Amino acid sequence: MKISSAEFIKSATNPGNYPPPELAEIAFAGRSNVGKSSLINVLVNRKNLVRTSSTPGRTQLLNFFDINQGSFSLVDLPGYGFAKVPLSVKKAWGPMMRTYLERRECLKAVIFILDIRRTPREEDIQMLDWLEEFEVPTIPVITKIDKLKRGQRDKQIKEIATTTGLPSDVFSLFSALTKEGKDDIWERIEDALEA
Ligand code: GDP
Repeated sequence: MKISSAEFIKSATNPGNYPPPELAEIAFAGRSNVGKSSLINVLVNRKNLVRTSSTPGRTQLLNFFDINQGSFSLVDLPGYGFAKVPLSVKKAWGPMMRTYLERRECLKAVIFILDIRRTPREEDIQMLDWLEEFEVPTIPVITKIDKLKRGQRDKQIKEIATTTGLPSDVFSLFSALTKEGKDDIWERIEDALEA
């Protein structure tokens, strides 16, 4: 995919303030610190389109981005499992996410991101359950693969496959450091946009 432009459109919390559903949309989900911002920034060739979770503010909102002047949009969903977030925000996360996944008719796929070094936890499984419940096509990605040597990688991929119940070969493997996996993920996004 050739990216000629990537621009922040707006932040939203509920359907009343989502942008109009005119463009096909791809969303990104994962726990805080999983590497979601880094993945999006690598995909669109930008250092800082998406801010990392070390800068709070936009992080608990749905953030919408326009790609290639109205060609399609990307949505950075709020990272979950963030210890420092107030309880009220944590409670709002579930309904906000469910509503988006259930009602966003232009949503074509969710990139569901896991860290190669971490065993998936309750919120990850919750997210997968919703994706299944609302029949949202899912592109599972394991990121930070540069952090482990090959043998260790395979062991962790197996562990992640077992805990999520997904076959190990459905995961795209990615590293924001080496950019390995970037083309593969774009191909899957393009397929989802055309589906
Ligand atoms: P987010 O909270 O999910 O948006 O996560 P970030 O993209 O901010 O990444 C969290 C931390 O992990 C940052 O320090 C990143 O530099 C680091 N990181 C993200 N992706 C990778 C990766 O593929 N490889 C390595 N080595 N570090 C990564």
